[in-house]
Amino acid sequence: MSKTGSSKITAGRAALWLLLVPLYATYGLYVVLRWTLGLPRLARGTRAMLSDEIRCPNGHPNLTRGRFECGACHGVYHGWVGECPLCGAGASWFPCGTCGVSIPLPWESS
Ligand SMILES: [Zn+2]
Ligand SMILES: [Zn+2]
Repeated sequence: MSKTGSSKITAGRAALWLLLVPLYATYGLYVVLRWTLGLPRLARGTRAMLSDEIRCPNGHPNLTRGRFECGACHGVYHGWVGECPLCGAGASWFPCGTCGVSIPLPWESS
């Protein structure tokens, strides 16, 4: 009796596995695909984050470190363009020092 019972459980588990494995596999594939597709953008953002300058749409080079005005608290700070040290707000764009055109920060577009 007990032998039959345990084999029944095993069969039930096997059936459950057969049902769940494709689901897990599909989810895993989805995660991997999402990660792979997001990787180039992430790499581009990180490279832009590490670089010293960002070019505006007109091609003017702008330093990512210098004097900036925070859009959130309107404080003027000296440092990295991406984050205000006064209020901690992250910038999503900054104006070109040459032509004044807004430059979107690549690492913010997610
Ligand atoms: Zn601020
Ligand atoms: Zn410009």
